[in-house]
Amino acid sequence: MQSDTAALCSGLVKIYWTGTGEVHALKGIDASFPRGSITAVVGPSGSGKSSLLRIMAGLDRPTAGRVQVGGVDLAGLSASRLRRMRRKLVGYVFQRPSENLIPYLNVMEHLQVAAELRGRWRPKEAGELLDLLGLGKRRNHLPQQLSGGEQQRAAFAQAIIGKPSIVVADEPTAELDSHSGEALLETIATLTRSGISFIVSTHDPSMVAAADRTMLIRHGALEAETHQSRLLSVIDQSGRIQLPPDILALFPDRRAAINVEDGEVRITPP
Ligand code: ADP
Repeated sequence: MQSDTAALCSGLVKIYWTGTGEVHALKGIDASFPRGSITAVVGPSGSGKSSLLRIMAGLDRPTAGRVQVGGVDLAGLSASRLRRMRRKLVGYVFQRPSENLIPYLNVMEHLQVAAELRGRWRPKEAGELLDLLGLGKRRNHLPQQLSGGEQQRAAFAQAIIGKPSIVVADEPTAELDSHSGEALLETIATLTRSGISFIVSTHDPSMVAAADRTMLIRHGALEAETHQSRLLSVIDQSGRIQLPPDILALFPDRRAAINVEDGEVRITPP
């Protein structure tokens, strides 16, 4: 893994076995997440965003494929080692502010617990981080004494204290009003400067606008990715491209003629 890469996955497959059959939630995703950047993962509901985030965070295992975070291969680890590595390398923020915090710990105690698990507790650093996030005066408050926006900022402080390689957040602005959402986006943008890589699933256009790049997932495949503000289709390891639905509609028979002319590739219905 290159030193400017915080995490990567390749050939990631996730199948859930249910009473009614198999759900192929991820169908071979290849992606890398640079340090100090925000990646927004977008796509319709049920497209596989949470499955991808949970695997990148080490909260779930892939059915097949490789996941590396901070240079560590997560896929082959035993359950106890995976738990240890997850605490050290990954910060996770849930959608619902109250889910991220423990009711009887104050803000500073949350930071202490998280930092100690990562083996790096420095009270001065924690105080500076809280000041940076506008929570300096809230350090002794319990979660119930904080607004939803403050709770979510405290959750991010807890996620990044002790410098994990990545912070994974599942729709972190979904339950916030627009003002608190904006404040949280500023927080995330400030925190990326410390070199952490954020992987954030979202439906929020301002979160997408604040991201360095966007990954569009559909039906468990990576359909497109932005590169220097251009949206590019992704070709997977087997050479497959997933067409956007409006283009797919041009191919009702699901068959296409592919021709190369003057350096351009033309895909046309037969
Ligand atoms: P998204 O986050 O984009 O809504 P998910 O990753 O939650 O997508 O879900 C992808 C697919 O996997 C959906 O069809 C969903 O119903 C299914 N799925 C997700 N989690 C489970 C699970 N624990 N058991 C069975 N099916 C699941």
